[in-house]
Amino acid sequence: MKRSWMLISGKRRQVFMLEVKGITVSYYDFHILCDVSLSVDEGQIVAMVGPNGAGKTTLMHAVSGLVHPSSGSMEFLGKRIDELSPPEILEMGLIQVPEGRHLFPDMTVKENLELGAYARRAREKREETLKIVLDVFPILEERRRQLARTLSGGEQQMLAIARALMLRPIFLILDEPSLGLAPQMVLHLFDVVKRVNKEGVTVLLVEQNVRQALALAHKGYVLETGKIILEDEGKRLLENEQVKKAYLGM
Ligand code: ATP
Repeated sequence: MKRSWMLISGKRRQVFMLEVKGITVSYYDFHILCDVSLSVDEGQIVAMVGPNGAGKTTLMHAVSGLVHPSSGSMEFLGKRIDELSPPEILEMGLIQVPEGRHLFPDMTVKENLELGAYARRAREKREETLKIVLDVFPILEERRRQLARTLSGGEQQMLAIARALMLRPIFLILDEPSLGLAPQMVLHLFDVVKRVNKEGVTVLLVEQNVRQALALAHKGYVLETGKIILEDEGKRLLENEQVKKAYLGM
């Protein structure tokens, strides 16, 4: 994996693409994340798994700037991001596809995609990006004149990912992309994630589909009640007794 070289304070330094260092996030007096650290190298797929309510979405919201940690720090390409706003983080190329897709249901597939390229980093190259994205998702090319709400659940998830790609991400966060999809569609979705990663996009994947997510991921984390309890290569986590018992029904 490539660690990125960055010029920081006049010195060349090797940095992770994303580094979260000991963050705590609280709602009111309640700690949702407690001293959470993680790192993602350029080019990796990293999976974050854990039970409902563990704090996975909160962690993704923190990385995207939607909530701010009360302590700890976060760096993206060597630059502190924990005080930045969501649009500032987005302009750096760190894009999140939220759980639940949030499409524009009464607009066509093409309109949803075009609206995806609203940010400064993507506007000028909108037409070029649209061609690339429709090449990755032939099903959306076929359905480009259809209203988003008339797509199947799987197709809507593809559209949500495609719309995020319209922003030309260098780092993509996917929050529970396989939720509610038929098994065949889940397999297709994971293939798409692999393809997007091969095209050069680093991916942080939150999933309850533990087996498939860890099989795909270079590295995985297990988050339980706001704390990282395990970190290892994806395939090694699949062999971990604790993971097998708690998440794989073995
Ligand atoms: P799931 O897989 O069910 O989506 P998760 O691991 O993503 O769960 P979060 O959605 O991050 O977990 O929620 C972690 C905890 O934080 C939960 O107990 C939730 O009720 C709480 N929580 C989340 N958002 C808020 C909020 N805005 N205000 C108060 N509590 C919140």
